Amino acid sequence: MISFKLTEEQEQIRKLARSFAEKEIIPIAAEYDEKEEIPWHIVEKAHALGLMNRTVPVEYGGQGLDHVTDAIVAEELAYGCLGISGALGANGLALAPILIAGTPEQKEKFLKPFCAKPQLAAFCLTEPNAGSDVASISTTAVRDGDYYVINGRKCFITNGGIASLYTVFATVDKSKGLKGITAFIVPGDTPGISMGRKEKKMGDRASHVAEVIFEDVRVPKENVLWSEGQGFKIAMMTLDRTRPIVGAAAVGVARRALEEAIKYSKQRVQFGKPICENQAIQFMLADMATKVETARLLVWYACWLLDQGLPVSKIGAMAKMYAADVAMSVTVDAVQIFGGYGYMRDYPVEKLMRDAKILQIYEGTNQIQRIVIARNLLA
Ligand SMILES: Cc1cc2nc3c(=O)[nH]c(=O)nc-3n(C[C@H](O)[C@H](O)[C@H](O)COP(=O)(O)OP(=O)(O)OC[C@H]3O[C@@H](n4cnc5c(N)ncnc54)[C@H](O)[C@@H]3O)c2cc1C
Repeated sequence: MISFKLTEEQEQIRKLARSFAEKEIIPIAAEYDEKEEIPWHIVEKAHALGLMNRTVPVEYGGQGLDHVTDAIVAEELAYGCLGISGALGANGLALAPILIAGTPEQKEKFLKPFCAKPQLAAFCLTEPNAGSDVASISTTAVRDGDYYVINGRKCFITNGGIASLYTVFATVDKSKGLKGITAFIVPGDTPGISMGRKEKKMGDRASHVAEVIFEDVRVPKENVLWSEGQGFKIAMMTLDRTRPIVGAAAVGVARRALEEAIKYSKQRVQFGKPICENQAIQFMLADMATKVETARLLVWYACWLLDQGLPVSKIGAMAKMYAADVAMSVTVDAVQIFGGYGYMRDYPVEKLMRDAKILQIYEGTNQIQRIVIARNLLA
């Protein structure tokens, strides 16, 4: 028998995250979107409330949440602002390689002090010439005694240049392709790390995305995750784990757009009656609501698979792809329901539509998700 009843703990954390989004995030979201800055006071408050580092086990200073509960929180925070939820949520992406492949000693050494304070982490995979095609990464890690020396340039890195902890993917032998890729834990204060260009984005603007430059960055061999050549596997396992949470954030964006559209359609009067009395508007709202519900079902199913330790690649890719497409189409429809006002920055749906686009691009574009799904179908 399948139950959709949330546990008492899930209800409590949903309430907490919802009220945090409504009282703390929504009032400042437009301002930080305009300024293109992370609201640092929100990071501090989120940390104090236990809304960060959510899937890190309690013994390492995290919240020890399961993935379904993490998805519930991610939906609420993204309902408030995708950029802010992304800045907080990037820790989940960056720390996942350590959770997946870290030894108990590495977890104790790196996760515990990191989680003790409000700090940001970054996952460094993408490069200017290696986006979807991860095998092409050219950042190198050359062994030098007990150290590796990392050189290269990563781009589009959320929290790049401002993170206290990095997980970095570099090749120890380019000729080996995927088999040369190795994952490293790199503290943010290691000499040789610097921030390159800070990106100016279409949406998702309250998060910080920048290039990260590695120049002769010396990392002890103890910071390698698993062993040389395991980096690609770790990156793919990380994305399997985090894509459903991107899906959850997409559900949050879509639900917000739906609720704003319902509210507006009841208030806006044209031809002597509220526009919601037109069947054309009602059908749009009905389709939008159905998409939000079905996206959430897929996201929760993927998270449930993760919590059971079952294979999640295919359903996780479906959840991310479908929920991101839903967020895009629902926000476009919300703008349509607002008419000309929807195109203006005075109303929230314009930002929601700009924000939604990134969900179809990061953590693997929706084309790449379709490749993952098709590979699974044809295997
Ligand atoms: C705001 C933002 C935040 C990000 N944060 C991070 C981060 O924290 N860490 C990190 O490592 N990266 C991050 N990224 C990078 C992101 O994951 C990549 O942008 C994404 O994987 C796509 O890579 P690309 O931009 O190089 O596009 P490309 O790989 O060049 O793709 C361009 C187009 O071609 C399509 N395409 C490519 N290959 C195929 C194929 N085989 N079949 C069909 N279509 C294909 C793609 O779907 C896309 O439509 C971020 C990006 C953005 C914009």
